[in-house]
Amino acid sequence: MRAGSSGTNVVGDEDRKACRTAAWALHLWGSGVNSRPYVVAIDVGATKFEAALVDGDGTLGERHRVETAGATTATGLADRLVDVARSACADGGRDIAMAGVGSAGPFRVAGRTIAPVNLPLWDGFDIHNCLAEGLGLDVVVAGDAQALALGEGWLGAARGHENYLAMVVSTGIGGGLVVDGRLLRGALGNAGHLGHVVVEPDGRPCGCGGRGCVEAEASGTALRAITGADPRSASVRLRRRTGTLVGRAVASVVATLDVPLALVAGGVALGFGEDFFDAAQLELSARARLSFARDARIIPAGLGDSGPLLGAAALAYNTMKET
Ligand SMILES: [Zn+2]
Repeated sequence: MRAGSSGTNVVGDEDRKACRTAAWALHLWGSGVNSRPYVVAIDVGATKFEAALVDGDGTLGERHRVETAGATTATGLADRLVDVARSACADGGRDIAMAGVGSAGPFRVAGRTIAPVNLPLWDGFDIHNCLAEGLGLDVVVAGDAQALALGEGWLGAARGHENYLAMVVSTGIGGGLVVDGRLLRGALGNAGHLGHVVVEPDGRPCGCGGRGCVEAEASGTALRAITGADPRSASVRLRRRTGTLVGRAVASVVATLDVPLALVAGGVALGFGEDFFDAAQLELSARARLSFARDARIIPAGLGDSGPLLGAAALAYNTMKET
């Protein structure tokens, strides 16, 4: 494995890229059965980091995980990330083409520097450089929900679709947008922050500084604040209200971007189940009335708890296809 090999860090970026490209081409043409190499998929969340090898068919290797709690410095946290990624890379000594990373955001610099709201130690952390140096691999980084959107298009509920959005309705609310078959990244890498679509103009204050964002009304954090109780004990009425507000946010995005399919993942949405999705579809159908939008659907995402890692892998495979 390249990780930890002493020579890699002295090789310049361009040299390294050329070497990897050559290795990738050799692997592609030299292999008979499985013509696609492995990538290492890395999910960077607020509470844990997870990594696994993924092959070109979407088969996940062993999942390696480390908690973020207890880290006291940015470097200490970075060491945990590199260690867990190296552990995944060490599985089986396979040829690894690159690393794909889905990370908590937002980004300060697209694909490079993050300042996650829930990881205050990393206030402007260059995650790209950290992993490129730590693993000796080419690395591509996107938002976690952006990566999830790509994974859903590859192997999940958006397979065969080129225009859709993915949302995660969990502790917070995130999203990713695929338009014309391509992930939208935006100026600083933050396209798809669907949690901050306003659904109640005079609603609750939001952590972003605004008011009435869907994240401030329908996230797990918001529900806990509204009821004073665990969202899992929410009434049917509150489950339906949560679905309604998410459907309302989706209606605006569907009309804006002409994306007729919305996939929703995350513990709140999936935990609320039919109550959530029925109400969301009703609201979406009532609000999205333009001819191109009125058949839009909102459905559960398909990859379950493999979604973040398969999404990170999809990001890597997509990047290799484009270069
Ligand atoms: Zn907001």
